[in-house]
Amino acid sequence: MRDFIMSNSSKPLIKPQHSIPVMPATQETRLIAQVKLLQALQSSLNIQDVLSSFFKHIQPLVSVSGLVLTLKDKETNFKAGRNSIHSCNYGLNTEEGYLGEIVMTRSRRFTEDELMTIEMFIGSLVFALRNAIRYQEALTLALLDPLTLLGNRAALESSIKRELPFAVRHHQDLSILMIDVDFFKSINDSYGHDKGDHVLREIAKTIQTICRETDLTFRYGGEEFLVILRNTNLQGAQIIAERLRQQIASTAIPLREGGAIRPTVSIGISTLYQGQKEKAADLFKRADIALYNAKSSGRNCVMHENLETVTE
Ligand code: GH3
Ligand code: MG
Ligand code: MG
Repeated sequence: MRDFIMSNSSKPLIKPQHSIPVMPATQETRLIAQVKLLQALQSSLNIQDVLSSFFKHIQPLVSVSGLVLTLKDKETNFKAGRNSIHSCNYGLNTEEGYLGEIVMTRSRRFTEDELMTIEMFIGSLVFALRNAIRYQEALTLALLDPLTLLGNRAALESSIKRELPFAVRHHQDLSILMIDVDFFKSINDSYGHDKGDHVLREIAKTIQTICRETDLTFRYGGEEFLVILRNTNLQGAQIIAERLRQQIASTAIPLREGGAIRPTVSIGISTLYQGQKEKAADLFKRADIALYNAKSSGRNCVMHENLETVTE
């Protein structure tokens, strides 16, 4: 493991102006607290748990009311305790880069002694947070398809395990769109594999644009995509599928060297009706049969399980 380095920016950005004398912690209590803190921080790879542990174990040394950790994307926040008026801020840096910022607050100003103590312990926090953030990033990556950044097959399997029982329990409809790019092999053959990849990324973007935020989008296989439409009946699914098909068919994907690729897709729909119990495999199979029928009907069309063509 590489050495951990705290950069200069871990100095407090806001320092207390007045100090209230407090009993300094002895070397021994500091040592015990540090050992406890280190043990606690090592015990989890969950960012919130690490922060909560730090919050709890710093208390014997410096009383803190609240902590807010903001990750480097400036949007993801983790909190422990309650916010108060006096604060000290630290930029969290490792030799691998900036992790984010932590703000500690309480109702009294922090003394110089206390700030020194916090700085002594914050190194352990940064180390544990770096491990937790890495772990979370690896988990996210394990569920994303690297080419399109849609969910991958593993993400689909865990999502459908959650979504199907939820829909049954809450008497909601649920629909599946199985989408396959038409004659994709000939796109690869004519323009090359890189251009084929580009087409897949553009189609993935269109799928995300057309679908609602509550819909779940996945890359199912090479040039196949799958959408789980929550709380959507067959009619709703037909509207979305048809909108998607038309949008893809009407979009020319320009090539840098001139010209454009005009891909089309075929879509099969299956729907779980309210209160109906069905295995995920059966729901997928029905969508697959509908897709097969869309292909045999000439492609660039939408079909649902009852073999009816949706496309006008
Ligand atoms: P159909 O209309 O019947 O679906 O014809 P198709 O050519 O799309 O179907 P086929 O299954 O014969 O070909 C799929 C092609 O997709 C073959 C494979 O090389 C290509 N493919 C699979 N994954 C990728 C990928 O990640 N990138 C690229 N560029 N091509 C891929
Ligand atoms: Mg295919
Ligand atoms: Mg295909």
